[in-house]
Amino acid sequence: MFEVPQWAYEFHGHECPFMPIGYRMGTLALEKLGVGRSKNHEMHVFSEMGIAHPQGCMQDGIMASTSATFGKNLIERMYYGKVAATFWYPGKGAVRIFLRNEFSDSLSPHEFFKYRKKGVEPSEIPHEVRQDIINMVLRATNDELFKVEMLPDFQYEPPKSSFNKAKCEVCGEYVFERYLRVKDGKKVCISCSGHSKDEFTRPKVK
Ligand SMILES: [Zn+2]
Ligand SMILES: [Zn+2]
Repeated sequence: MFEVPQWAYEFHGHECPFMPIGYRMGTLALEKLGVGRSKNHEMHVFSEMGIAHPQGCMQDGIMASTSATFGKNLIERMYYGKVAATFWYPGKGAVRIFLRNEFSDSLSPHEFFKYRKKGVEPSEIPHEVRQDIINMVLRATNDELFKVEMLPDFQYEPPKSSFNKAKCEVCGEYVFERYLRVKDGKKVCISCSGHSKDEFTRPKVK
């Protein structure tokens, strides 16, 4: 049976089936690409999750097993609404991993989701119920869980990191240069530019 370390559940905050699915997805990606955790800025993950899907918990599992974290800018959301992700590693290529429909279907009738549909949050669901559905994830084989596709033609150029920052000419706070905007001839931060923050944080839906 696959084991997910206890600290990953603590990091995630509750016990649910989707964090372990993501943890296994990330672990399998490392195996397929023949690499270890990203100590620095190696792997880039393109998660196909969107917002407001409970399955998005998988992304915490991906981060826990690969160390490709949002904080290091190594994982981004594509907003396709799928339990899938593409993992790219410099010099090693890329692999896309999708949670099989059949496996999703096998989880759906579980009591865990009866609670979830009534609006009960995962941490409030009885422990045995959570543990039972998590064990279904941990007992499954990689083949039962995932559709795996190597992507030999996948190209990616990570954005260059920049240490350059400047002071906004209105509020005086430091801003990383690529986020400066020009307003009335002044270099200003996004908050002072009068643009709604939404314009910059809204997902780019393809
Ligand atoms: Zn969760
Ligand atoms: Zn400002």
